[in-house]
Amino acid sequence: MNELFLKIISGELPCSKIYEDTETFAFLDIKPCAKGHTLVVPKAYTRNLFLMNERDFGRLMETVHKVAHAVKIATNADGINIVINNEAAAGQEVFHTHVHIIPRHTNDGVFAPPKHETYTDGEMNTFAEKITSALI
Ligand code: 5GP
Repeated sequence: MNELFLKIISGELPCSKIYEDTETFAFLDIKPCAKGHTLVVPKAYTRNLFLMNERDFGRLMETVHKVAHAVKIATNADGINIVINNEAAAGQEVFHTHVHIIPRHTNDGVFAPPKHETYTDGEMNTFAEKITSALI
């Protein structure tokens, strides 16, 4: 278990708190991609999305929805990225589920353009079938 965010939630470690309810907590990221970059976390520890149930994830996203509006207004952002890094391969460094709310301004250059791949003939349908059959 990673205890960093639990210590922030309990007040053992300081943070700039944005919002709190019975199940979720939001605070400013200490190394923001842009000023106002906010993290939303569940109070009950889970490592990441893969270990969270649908109901708790939905509840977390309700808070993301509420806070994202406030971040956009407060930072006068042109847009907002909602990002969740799950596991190290996807950039997760703190292993307690968290959602990044990142205010964006036109041409701010926060993210590099993503890489794109091309499907070969029939490959797209194969991927769609594989993913569909993995749905639970
Ligand atoms: P990840 O890469 O795991 O998706 O993001 C973890 C985030 O947590 C990073 O953006 C990082 O800046 C933030 N972070 C790490 N340690 C602290 C801390 O002690 N306080 C706050 N407020 N944010 C932190």
